[in-house]
Amino acid sequence: MPWWREHDENSILISDLNAPPSTDGPGKHEFVSPFQSSGDILAASGELLAHLQRSGLRFVPNSAAASMASWEQTLAAQFTSPATSAGVTSAGVTSAGVTSAGASEVLPENHVAASQTLAPTLQERPRDRQQPSPTPSRLTPVASSSVNSAPYPGVSLPVAEVVTALDSLSQSVAGCTRCKALASCRTQTVFGEGSPQPRFVFFGEAPGAEEDKTGRPFVGAAGQLLTKMIEAIQLKREDVYLLNTVKCRPPGNRNPAPDEVANCREYFETQLQLLRPEYIVCLGAVSSQALLQSKLSIGRLRQTFHQYHDSKVIAIYHPAYLLRNPDAKRAAWADLQMLMKDAGLR
Ligand code: SF4
Repeated sequence: MPWWREHDENSILISDLNAPPSTDGPGKHEFVSPFQSSGDILAASGELLAHLQRSGLRFVPNSAAASMASWEQTLAAQFTSPATSAGVTSAGVTSAGVTSAGASEVLPENHVAASQTLAPTLQERPRDRQQPSPTPSRLTPVASSSVNSAPYPGVSLPVAEVVTALDSLSQSVAGCTRCKALASCRTQTVFGEGSPQPRFVFFGEAPGAEEDKTGRPFVGAAGQLLTKMIEAIQLKREDVYLLNTVKCRPPGNRNPAPDEVANCREYFETQLQLLRPEYIVCLGAVSSQALLQSKLSIGRLRQTFHQYHDSKVIAIYHPAYLLRNPDAKRAAWADLQMLMKDAGLR
């Protein structure tokens, strides 16, 4: 549960247990959920930072704190050295100047001191203090959804038969012309690649220019970041399977149209049925919404395990989005940590 929530389109409410009780109102403070661990604090801090910066607010560190550049470096370091303290420990957050300097741009002056000692203060919250009822928010993670909780149809095939079936399906896809606009301008289809017995599948949106040229998924700049993300959770790219929602590059890298996703559904569903992964990581809104048959934003679908047949599903920000919005890396790392914990990867 987030420790902050939107108040309206232009303001948010921030929990601060050092503040006196008050009624809701712009600029006021309220008491909301406490943290159970430093990991909770990290995840919540990342959520808040990403949200504020998406909303247009910019942090201006004061002269006594670390620079914004060092904070951005801390975020970027998460996918290159996740096991280190860079951005992973609560100390990383404080030293980066977000609570000590950045928060001073958000909180009233008399609350800066409280924000500097966030974790210990929150742990001292009296247990009998009445909590406000949560307000629905578009950023509140949705409850787990299950579009199809039945087991995968058919039986699990031996690996050699899976490889044969995938090859056969790939040849069918290569000649597909269901989407006239896509089939007419593609160089080639991009079917997918990786382990035929994967525990983890990474499910993207659509091929880009590099993928269209090479016929391989996730080989461009976003693909390189995805490879780092995979390695950051103690996996190797060859251990997982990578595929996209649609197999042809949309012109101009636009999002696939709903009818194009519908046309290609049979292909990605058959791939998943053959692979039967334990986990499916949906990258971005297009693949998340397609697989879960949902219209909810990625912001609401993330941070929750969903179900697709026998597979657990998580939704995270697409690597291409992370390249454009480095501030969201912290949220993505929190999602990957959730996956690692559930899968026993650490
Ligand atoms: S996107 Fe899928 S359904 Fe559409 S033409 Fe390409 S392979 Fe066929």
